[in-house]
Amino acid sequence: MDEIISHNPRTGEEIGRLPVANADEVRAAVGRARKAFEEWRDLSFPDRAEHLKRLKKELIGNSDHYADVIVRETGKHHSDALLADVAQVAGTLDYAIRKGGKLLAPRKASSWPMPMLRAYVEYHPIGVVGVISPWNYPLGLPFIPTVLALAAGCTVVVKPSDVTPLTGELIREATDAAGLPPGVVQVVQGGAATGQALIDAVDLVSFTGSPATARKVASRAAETLTPVLLELGGKDAMVVLEDADLDRAARGAVWGGMFNAGQTCISIERVYVVDAVYDEFLAKVDAQMDGLSAGGPDKGDIGPIIFDRQLEIIESHLEDAVGKGATVVRGGSRVAGPGSFYEPTLLTDVDHTMEIMREETFGPILPIMRVPGEEAALELANDSKFGLHGSVWTKDLARGRSFASRLNTGTVAVNNCLVNFGVPDLPFGGIRESGYGSSNGPEGIRAFTYPKAVAVNRIALKREPWWFPRIGGKRLGKVFLRLAGRG
Ligand code: NAD
Repeated sequence: MDEIISHNPRTGEEIGRLPVANADEVRAAVGRARKAFEEWRDLSFPDRAEHLKRLKKELIGNSDHYADVIVRETGKHHSDALLADVAQVAGTLDYAIRKGGKLLAPRKASSWPMPMLRAYVEYHPIGVVGVISPWNYPLGLPFIPTVLALAAGCTVVVKPSDVTPLTGELIREATDAAGLPPGVVQVVQGGAATGQALIDAVDLVSFTGSPATARKVASRAAETLTPVLLELGGKDAMVVLEDADLDRAARGAVWGGMFNAGQTCISIERVYVVDAVYDEFLAKVDAQMDGLSAGGPDKGDIGPIIFDRQLEIIESHLEDAVGKGATVVRGGSRVAGPGSFYEPTLLTDVDHTMEIMREETFGPILPIMRVPGEEAALELANDSKFGLHGSVWTKDLARGRSFASRLNTGTVAVNNCLVNFGVPDLPFGGIRESGYGSSNGPEGIRAFTYPKAVAVNRIALKREPWWFPRIGGKRLGKVFLRLAGRG
């Protein structure tokens, strides 16, 4: 593959081509990033923050331009591109500028049981970071780890999704416009081969994408013992309890399941509703979906599905569900072209034998399951190989918090959905096949550093009692054990 071709999924038209970076070009980019690292890491945090401030100004000042490119390449609504891509990056920049200095400052540590020491931890940038990202939020997902890595003192080489390369180029454009020093942020275009060359050359890989690709990324990185952060897919559950505000929950379900045509890692992909309110909730969801449509060059709340392969996954999940007894309440088909659209779809009579309840669908389908009560809902919500996000809906906030803490996910919301990613101080990440490591939050900045533990001897005795020859023989070990265990 010498070129990647970008299409507008609303129309199917080609909108641009870019040359693919081969392995030599990737190595050269990483070489330039290594050189740039020598100076970037030595900048004080306030000096790095000055660069980030200019980047934020550039992004906000030209936000419509950035959103326009995203819209052309993904077909999503302009407002959604601002909300879920551009604003997320601006929020992360703001967070890094305001909090980065404090979060990266040395941390004092207790020196017990070695009182002669002063102990502290310094956070050092890990080096050159390779960012590999997907197409669904094509600016936000590569740019957020880039910003956090820059704040931490790393330099970055980004490989955007080969499905959305033109948006990937915006990272180059924004960082150039903000006057970041040469080599601090670079973009290499391509698919798997370019990604693999990047993994081989960098000091840390920040990967966002599917679990299947993550396995390849992690095993490739294992060859050089390069650390990886993995932000992967999900099968997020929404649980509606009998005391929920059903109007709000129904609206939330439709938005959380259909936003970006369901192509969001934290989409609501399955809904469990307790028996007492199931019928009422279903009627409200059905009514909410009345006004929704997909298709056409400009119209429709539900944007396009990114490409045919994704449409085929959606169709095969629906076919499997219907074959096993699911009922299509509305929707359930592709929309005739041009472009790739799928009808907003409501599904009932679903169960956990169906792919639609177990595998990531990434489409505008809301499968709703009736459950006898709260405990059954929890058990089913936790019956998943994924563990990214989830939500519980109840007017009793104490009950909601307790349920939330028993849900096996990295992030969870009570009476809301998809909001966690919009809060830059909250770490974002999953468990199980949803990945490991965090983006966002203090953990997200420190993920691009290694902790250097420093012990400084501050009471200069002639010797320590455990040096040769040992003082106190066997008793010394016993005394130290008591001190370490504080008793
Ligand atoms: P993908 O795994 O197909 O591709 C992701 C990236 O990996 C792309 O840039 C691709 O070119 C690259 N790649 C492919 N093969 C590679 C290889 N062998 N070595 C190195 N790089 C390689 O994912 P996608 O289809 O672009 O995105 C959809 C997936 O991303 C979904 O599973 C979704 O849930 C997940 N996702 C997760 C998050 C999160 O934050 N947890 C956010 C958005 C999307």
